[in-house]
Amino acid sequence: MPSFHPPERLLLGPGPSNVAPRVLAALARPTLGHLDPAFVSMMDELKELLRGAFLTKNALTVPVSAPGSAGMEACFVNLIEPGDTVIVCKNGVFGGRMRENVLRIGATPVMVEDDFGQPVDPAKVEAAILANPQAKALAFVHAETSTGALSDAESLCAMARAHGMLTIVDAVTSLGGVPLRVDDWGIDAIYSGSQKCLSCPPGLSPLSFSARAVETLKARKHPVQSWFLDLSLVMGYWEGAGARAYHHTAPVNMLYALHESLTALHEEGLEAAWARHAANHQRLRTGLEALGIEFLVPEAARLPQLNAVRIPTGVEDAPVRKRLLEQYGIEIGAGLGPLAGKVWRIGLMGTSSSPESVDRVLAALGEVLGR
Ligand SMILES: *Cc1c(COP(=O)(O)O)cnc(C)c1O
Repeated sequence: MPSFHPPERLLLGPGPSNVAPRVLAALARPTLGHLDPAFVSMMDELKELLRGAFLTKNALTVPVSAPGSAGMEACFVNLIEPGDTVIVCKNGVFGGRMRENVLRIGATPVMVEDDFGQPVDPAKVEAAILANPQAKALAFVHAETSTGALSDAESLCAMARAHGMLTIVDAVTSLGGVPLRVDDWGIDAIYSGSQKCLSCPPGLSPLSFSARAVETLKARKHPVQSWFLDLSLVMGYWEGAGARAYHHTAPVNMLYALHESLTALHEEGLEAAWARHAANHQRLRTGLEALGIEFLVPEAARLPQLNAVRIPTGVEDAPVRKRLLEQYGIEIGAGLGPLAGKVWRIGLMGTSSSPESVDRVLAALGEVLGR
């Protein structure tokens, strides 16, 4: 069996995004023991870089050793206990997964639903908070990758805080791509993913807990149902002063990669990265409109890093995506759930958010559609 050599692709789907050569080079550096002092000081830098990306001073800010879905599960299993009530907003596929997490803990989700393609409606959330004052937390997805809609995290968190509720925020696609201010917005528990706007390979989930969230974890009545994701144990590994307790073997080289991608983000500047995502979205929008292609999401709530567009009438979904991939080496995303066959999802995340990517996908789409 020969070695595997993947083809070159331009990754313009819902993630993973293209990984920069400097991040791939970091992956190839020699593996260290995960308790080696050199590795431990890299971990300290990594936590500092993550705090910079999340705009937080939270002590408990670490990458979970597993993809974004594990970050989601870590937030729920550590903060929610059997019998708790959680207000869960669902305006796409990922809000549905939050509900599933709450149910499996033996807690009660109170659903606030909005149509796929719409942001979470703050008025409905306010009503749900007033009707369920006993709820422990409000959970929502900041950037719904399944639909391309951005919700107003700042307002939603302010409402939850005013009623003494914790907030659990999915920032898998938002981190690095759109403004996100964990401390200013009073977010209690937030998780992201390495493979979207951070442009690192998939497999890590940056997570941050506020002091309130850490107190909630410490005051639990029941042990966390997941041993692997129990942050009180994970903290002993990531935070132990000097003597770090072995919990699991960290994915050493992946953490080098995350360190490198966050260093690149730091060099560019967070606000510059947000501005770049916005500018490339506008460039794509202009070109798509010239091709007669419409967006699913109302303008004010569009995610620059995930453009959900309606498949033009009379055009078949799968053959177009197949030709883009096979003839042009470009991956775009299909619709998920109720949007399957109705939309394409064109991601411009991290390294993939460049004028060159936009021009390539527009030229290819124009040819494939014969426009
Ligand atoms: C991709 C994504 C996830 C899941 O992340 P994985 O790394 O695929 O587990 C969760 N939420 C949102 C909004 C996402 O875009």
